[in-house]
Amino acid sequence: MGKLLIIGAGGVATVAAFKVAKNADVFTEIMIASRTKSKCDKIAADIARVVGRTDIRTAQVDAESVPQLVALMRDFRPDLVMNLALPYQDLTIMDACLQAGCSYMDTANYEPKDEAHFEYSWQWAYRERFEKAGLTAILGCGFDPGVTSIFTAYAAKHHFDEIHYLDIVDCNAGDHHHPFATNFNPEINIREITQKGLYWQDGKYVETEPLEIHKTLHYPNIGARESYLLHHEEIESLVINYPTIKRARFWVTFGEAYLRHLEVIQNIGMDRIDELTYRAEKADGSGEMVDVKIVPLQFLKAVLPNPQELGENYDGETSIGCRIRGVKDGKERTYYVYNNCSHRAAYEETGMQGVSYTTGVPACIGARLFMLGLWQKPGVHNVEEFDPDPFMAELNKQGLPWHELHDIDLEL
Ligand code: NDP
Repeated sequence: MGKLLIIGAGGVATVAAFKVAKNADVFTEIMIASRTKSKCDKIAADIARVVGRTDIRTAQVDAESVPQLVALMRDFRPDLVMNLALPYQDLTIMDACLQAGCSYMDTANYEPKDEAHFEYSWQWAYRERFEKAGLTAILGCGFDPGVTSIFTAYAAKHHFDEIHYLDIVDCNAGDHHHPFATNFNPEINIREITQKGLYWQDGKYVETEPLEIHKTLHYPNIGARESYLLHHEEIESLVINYPTIKRARFWVTFGEAYLRHLEVIQNIGMDRIDELTYRAEKADGSGEMVDVKIVPLQFLKAVLPNPQELGENYDGETSIGCRIRGVKDGKERTYYVYNNCSHRAAYEETGMQGVSYTTGVPACIGARLFMLGLWQKPGVHNVEEFDPDPFMAELNKQGLPWHELHDIDLEL
């Protein structure tokens, strides 16, 4: 029924590949393509062993090369391309989709390599081209962005006439037993959290120093955790799609040890993203010295634990949700909708930890709804622009059950 091309072979792609392989009623042909083909082959072999599906194809592709992508897409002819590589490759993959006539989905908005800055404008600029081509582009279909935006759409559809205050709260109360590690690509993660904070208030953005605003919040089944205000991409589209929102903020928890390591990383310049020249011995054993270019943050990524390998000893759970205040039938109401995900359960099912799981499963669900024709709309759309109901139903079936609380103290 549906042909899917997954680009990328990291933690998120592994989970998504496992899940789509299990949804064999809809995903009849699957290909995984990435920079390193051996990683795609390993995912395909693991799926064959665990799920029993032996027909997953693999390929090598440089997702920064539009001609390579177009050649691959023309050969495989997917209905949908699921971009689970890095945010740097969003635009080249969208360009290739337009040339090859494929629809598109991702989980993170475009970010140029040489500037730690993300926003949707670059991808929204493709709207008309996707519309004219009759192709759908679904932006931000992970957990946050992704499920958090769908939670908001669901609240707006069923529980509020107007949403006034939106707080997205993301807690990872897991312990991977490493002194310092990031839960997804370290380069992307550190770029994100060292930026200035930003939130929406009364029709404009308010900027804060990085991690300047923080507050103790209580998470279901977890308890109190210090939560820090960050700029996060879903705020940008949600305040446009729900113009009654007076204030929208994003909060994420960090432990003390994590912040201490981060401070040292910044103090010694290892978070730099500019290129430095480093004098090193040539790898051919000749003893000859050469100048090599390194980007400190990329080098740091190479020495930090690989997020894909954190799963085995990861205890605890994540809790991500939306705390919403607004009006229904003339009365002020509050609403908290969330999912808790166990790192261990995620590992046992897919070999990956909870953060990869909570991103890969929504990508699979969005793709499933696309293939079924429920989430198809020519143009470029953020996930809250589609019907949230079938997505919410699938979350419960595909491993990310959600819970809701009404008229409670939101703490915010
Ligand atoms: P990883 O670093 O584990 O995986 C990225 C993959 O992309 C790797 O397999 C890598 O190849 C591949 N890749 C990188 N550059 C290229 C290229 N030029 N051509 C082809 N393949 C390439 O990242 P994650 O799996 O942790 O994250 C994947 C995406 O998910 C990221 O965009 C991240 O921002 C997003 N994300 C979204 C979340 C959400 O909730 N919305 C949460 C977490 C992540 P190689 O193996 O050779 O290095």
